[in-house]
Amino acid sequence: MRALMYLGTRKMEMQEVEEPRVSPGHVVLKVGAASICGSDLHGFLGKSAKRVPPLVMGHEFTGEVVAPDRGAEGLSVGDRVTINPILSCGRCEECLRGRTSICPRRTVIGIEHPGAFAGYVSVPAESCFKLPDHVGDLEGSMVESLSNALHIFDRSLHGFIRSVAVIGAGTQGLLALQVARHIGATRIAVTDMVPSRLELASRLGATHVIDVRAEDPVEAVIEMTDGQGVDLSVEAVGHTATQEQAVRMLRQGGEAVLLGLGAEAPMSIDGVAMVNRELVVRGSYAYTSLDFAYSLELISTGRIDVASMVVARDLEEGPGIFTKLVDDPGDLIKVSLVPNP
Ligand SMILES: [Zn+2]
Ligand SMILES: [Zn+2]
Repeated sequence: MRALMYLGTRKMEMQEVEEPRVSPGHVVLKVGAASICGSDLHGFLGKSAKRVPPLVMGHEFTGEVVAPDRGAEGLSVGDRVTINPILSCGRCEECLRGRTSICPRRTVIGIEHPGAFAGYVSVPAESCFKLPDHVGDLEGSMVESLSNALHIFDRSLHGFIRSVAVIGAGTQGLLALQVARHIGATRIAVTDMVPSRLELASRLGATHVIDVRAEDPVEAVIEMTDGQGVDLSVEAVGHTATQEQAVRMLRQGGEAVLLGLGAEAPMSIDGVAMVNRELVVRGSYAYTSLDFAYSLELISTGRIDVASMVVARDLEEGPGIFTKLVDDPGDLIKVSLVPNP
């Protein structure tokens, strides 16, 4: 089969490799679509220590079951599925508390195991979520992305969230904005420096879009909330400066959630303000299976628009697309690689 092989920093090529064989508890899938994650781009740039070449990446994907193991209950040849790629141990204290995404023994398909930028991939049967017929492969490959955005909010639902600021209008920012709208936030600001992304944010429900080249984002968000600051801010870029902005735009008792990877240096936090204003700053990493199931439900019922942010490309074009996405993404937000389109 053909596979997009990561060979080292900025080095990727299409190669002919052996197809995966069925192993106990696993199914072999013919890949439908596999989306490129921001973390894959970090890997391509050699900034992801866990991605050791040679490696087939790809953890956001759909596929059709071509070979189930006899023990793979509930799955038959021909079933279309999307996959939760995080394999947590199920036994450690974090797993027992339901916080499977931070299981210290977790591994991920496409990072520690061969991923889906290939014709076929082998996955544990229990990681598969069946796709309804009307959900296409591109939408199905976005279930993983939306799960991340849901996870941001699933520990913040202890009160009404009326105002949200999202820093960065990439895939995660645009999804977080839609989840904020879905849970009833009435003021939702999105910041970015690319006009086409801000336009899309407006169409997807942002009440305020802030072009950081023209306006100070913290001042603009505070003004939007009549001088108060927001209940929740989401940092979906991954720079030290934007992490600090996320804290500075909070209202009293507000919560900043950090999601972006790769900040250049540790952020600085005003500890006195944190105490006096009861601010919360926390990270959000990946998602649980429950987030994943809810994500699929929101996409399949049309509550969240994922189609307007993803485009399909032939897997064979993979090496060039990775280079374009890191050097000059232009209007591209999410690209999904399709083998044999
Ligand atoms: Zn991802
Ligand atoms: Zn565990």
